[in-house]
Amino acid sequence: MIQYTIMLSLDTPISVISGVGEAMVDKLAKLGIKTIGQAVYYYPFRYDDFTHRTTINRVVAGETVNVVGTIDVINTRRSPRQHMYVTEAIITDDTGKLRVTWFNQPFLSRNLQTGDYISLAGKVSQDLLGPLMISPQYEKVDRRGITQHTSGLVPVYSTISGLTTKQLRAIIGRTLNLAKIDEWLPSELLKKRGLLSLREALINIHRPPSWTSLEAARHRLAFDELVILQLRGQLIRERWQTSQAPIIRFNEALTKEIVNSWSFQLTDDQRRCSWQILQDLEQNQPMLRLLQGDVGSGKTAVAILAMANVADSGYQTALIAPSEVLAYQHFQTVVASLGEFFVIGLLTRTQQFLSKPKEGIKKTTKKQLVRLLSLGQCQVVIGTQALLQEPVDFYKLGLLIVDEQHRFGVEQRQLLLNKKLFAENGQNLVAHFLAMTATPIPRSLALSLYGDLNLSVIRTMPAGRLPVITKIVEDKDRAKMYKFIRQLLDKGEQAFIVCPLVDPSDKLAVKAATDEFNYLVNGELKGYKVGLLHGRLSGANKQKVMADFAAGRYQVLVATAVVELGLDIPQATVMVIEGADRFGLAQLHQYRGRVGRRGQQAYCFLLPSPASGELAKRRLKAVVKYNNGQELARLDLKWRGPGELYGYEQTGFSELRLANIFDQDLISAAHEIALEVLHHPNWRYRAITNLAWQLGGLDVLPQ
Ligand code: ADP
Ligand code: MG
Repeated sequence: MIQYTIMLSLDTPISVISGVGEAMVDKLAKLGIKTIGQAVYYYPFRYDDFTHRTTINRVVAGETVNVVGTIDVINTRRSPRQHMYVTEAIITDDTGKLRVTWFNQPFLSRNLQTGDYISLAGKVSQDLLGPLMISPQYEKVDRRGITQHTSGLVPVYSTISGLTTKQLRAIIGRTLNLAKIDEWLPSELLKKRGLLSLREALINIHRPPSWTSLEAARHRLAFDELVILQLRGQLIRERWQTSQAPIIRFNEALTKEIVNSWSFQLTDDQRRCSWQILQDLEQNQPMLRLLQGDVGSGKTAVAILAMANVADSGYQTALIAPSEVLAYQHFQTVVASLGEFFVIGLLTRTQQFLSKPKEGIKKTTKKQLVRLLSLGQCQVVIGTQALLQEPVDFYKLGLLIVDEQHRFGVEQRQLLLNKKLFAENGQNLVAHFLAMTATPIPRSLALSLYGDLNLSVIRTMPAGRLPVITKIVEDKDRAKMYKFIRQLLDKGEQAFIVCPLVDPSDKLAVKAATDEFNYLVNGELKGYKVGLLHGRLSGANKQKVMADFAAGRYQVLVATAVVELGLDIPQATVMVIEGADRFGLAQLHQYRGRVGRRGQQAYCFLLPSPASGELAKRRLKAVVKYNNGQELARLDLKWRGPGELYGYEQTGFSELRLANIFDQDLISAAHEIALEVLHHPNWRYRAITNLAWQLGGLDVLPQ
């Protein structure tokens, strides 16, 4: 018999799925699921292993099992003392009887009745009377004998309150049956590489028949992620290569004057990187360069030399910082070096300043700044991501610098290309592009992502910097640590105290930081000036706290994980990190790089969270041992393994949910295939369509 089923395209609204009513649509939207495709790509974050199907006479305490049987008796009562509902049942199969207890699920007796044929899954417990199951997962076995929640490898999704995992599982299950999942890679190619079809991979990631098939599914989907990343890079590159950029002449006298005004000598690496950038700028091909260097290696100085020459040639520079606080700090640094030569602006959502030669820094308005930029009367503007979204018409933008940004500016660059920044002599010129990062992105990935991207690396730290002394501090040694810190504070040094990693704007994080703050000012740090920085403060308030800390009005800064990457507080010599095991190793390394910047001896104290295990200790020991971000990033990925919830966001590749950025083999395979696909007339079209879908719409694509 032939069955005809209508398959639904990935763009179809999720509301067409049976059981998805208006209220459900709203809930799913909160998870980012609005279409069939988004449901299909909503991966489980772990699986319950209920593959051990057994009979009742064989259940053994301690094992996780799946049993199937009929309900003999079931009843719910209220336990008077604990004010909770207790549901007790006896289940039978051909081999015996099993006692089951559920707590606080009053609705259960509505769902399950005597005589129901059900499937149970969970850990077997034991009491005086023998084995029993306490609060197992349960479901009725349907007419066809199929179970979805209690047998095999059962997917577990992250969800929100009001939407149970069971509901989500059922909806995604129904969606998968109906979704039209087209293959977008050539089948010979899949065969050659032993990859599953996309459809099979997506079905298996939600409902894996075995751990091995789950691995195969993840492999295929990870591969897709990398190919998509590569495709995007290649498409941008195609457009980039046909564009032209302004020629920036190197002004040696001006450059020397600026360098000589600094209180330090440039390191050899800074000199080499500056030179590479200045040479790029002299070409009419747009520069595409990534400047990589550990926190504190002095990337800003290099950027300043580039912007000085751009301004001197009559073009403008926009510098994009990852946060308002950092934008403000960059503004001050740039004004200190270039303020006597050029007009420099700060344009963020909440604050606008203008610095003019001889006049110094003044407050201004967004409107005024935008006007000056469009007239070419402001040569350097510093802002956050919002700057690119503002309706700013640059007069002649010559250079875009993106500092410490996720994805190394792929998006900003795209935005720039799409905006067509300025026209000169009837030509469309695009700005040169420089990304700066402390993230130790592997060279092979950087190169393949951007095609022609050039890499400049600052390997050595400015001379005279002592390695930060790093220690893991057990709870019992806290008092000693605070005593040590007080001694340093008494000498005029400053300390950061970073609270455990939670979304820094989250209520919980704010509370944790506030509690820590109160605890310290009333206890270990009583009498010291302590500031508090968290994500619920307004931009202006954050800035004030930072400025006060920088000016020494606070001796200690208690902060949620917002302590800005790259923030420069020269007198700070202590970095305390609470719940250190929750952070990525490379990230801990970056925090550590924020102290001891003036060459003083600095200290980093890592406090593991109370429940942390052996692996956590081993990870932290690596931070003590290695003073190298790249090495730490590699170890981190090795130890955390795939499937961890956190990690990739920190490396800036949040779109990689399954792929490992250190998997060199898969990256180069993806690179090859991206090129192959792009050069094939039919596959190119499919690839671009898929890319557009994955990225959420054609408008995000470079033409
Ligand atoms: P990052 O690479 O993290 O952006 P910054 O540019 O913020 O580092 O520089 C960190 C600190 O080091 C700043 O205070 C800066 O003035 C200082 N610095 C930069 N270059 C040198 C150098 N060659 N010698 C000494 N100090 C330097
Ligand atoms: Mg920096």
